[in-house]
Amino acid sequence: MYAYPCLTVNLDSIRNNIHAMVELCHRHGVEPAGVTKLACANPEIAQAMVEGGITLLADSRLINLQRLEGLPVKKMLLRLPALSEVEAVVRFAQVSLNSEENTLRALSKAACQLGITHGVIVMHDLGDLREGCFFEEETLHLARTVTELPGLQLEGIGANLACYGGVEPTTDNQTELTAIASRIEQALDVQINVISGASSAGLFLMLRGGLPKAVNQLRLGASLLMGIGLNDDPIPGTCQSAFSLQCEIIEVKLKPSVPAESTALDAFGNKPVFVDRGIRRRAICAIGKQDIDINQITPHDSGILVIGGSSDHLILDITDASQTYSVGDIIEFDISYSGVLQCMTSEYVAKRCISADNQS
Ligand SMILES: *Cc1c(COP(=O)(O)O)cnc(C)c1O
Repeated sequence: MYAYPCLTVNLDSIRNNIHAMVELCHRHGVEPAGVTKLACANPEIAQAMVEGGITLLADSRLINLQRLEGLPVKKMLLRLPALSEVEAVVRFAQVSLNSEENTLRALSKAACQLGITHGVIVMHDLGDLREGCFFEEETLHLARTVTELPGLQLEGIGANLACYGGVEPTTDNQTELTAIASRIEQALDVQINVISGASSAGLFLMLRGGLPKAVNQLRLGASLLMGIGLNDDPIPGTCQSAFSLQCEIIEVKLKPSVPAESTALDAFGNKPVFVDRGIRRRAICAIGKQDIDINQITPHDSGILVIGGSSDHLILDITDASQTYSVGDIIEFDISYSGVLQCMTSEYVAKRCISADNQS
């Protein structure tokens, strides 16, 4: 229906990242879960994960897991299940991360109704203060509850770090998690098969050899797709440019850089601020804040300045650009994690997967 704006996904780069990450993880005794939420569970990307040796796909949203139903690997729900969705959870996910007793009871009931067993990873909060039980007694109590409920199987324990509180995965906090796992094993006389220590934020620790041996799962999204770990730092041997954004120019004009008499608020209720650079060559691209936070994109052409935007317009200063642009030309941008997330989610941004053997 429309060609631009377009988020281009280089599948070859993603395949290389997956290949590199799976190998690194295996070398450190870690089985990576492939997190698909950044790509809204795009089937070609999920397929690339499976072909690259990912044996467990994970997503925070059930609707995404439903999209992955046909792929022949286990699925894990990352966000705590909502009480209103437990029937779908046990249908579309074989494992889920949990921290609430009432939700576990509801999952148990739903699993029994379907006559299946649903795997549970009990979440412990190591201090990042998003999901999970902060107090060990509570984690132990939940683990016991899982073992007592029919239709549920205690798969392991897990923790999430760095996403909310900025708490880094460390040898200390990962060791704390493994110690809790051992105490659960002793107290309940069960075996904890999975210790799911962190997300991509735990990779640098793993690569430094600082991850305790017992931590055998990391949940990887950003690293597989964008080659980045903690603080968005690049992971050696991976590619950071699998995603790029292309936008079409719809106007090019010489204009002053300061509006005639700026007294009103802009379309988003802010008082606009301007730098007077004199008369400049400006371009408007057909993309706007409805599609993307314009701070999340960087033009490939380093002579182009992103100077602002509104709901449907992106305004660029192209005076110092490395080439002369005209209406109809396409401008390329690098794009951050949250930028990719927004574009993947916007129905107004076309998506195009490319690879050497197939341009689709
Ligand atoms: C999103 C998410 C991940 C993956 O995080 P990345 O930084 O993309 O690797 C892992 N675990 C949980 C619980 C998540 O919500």
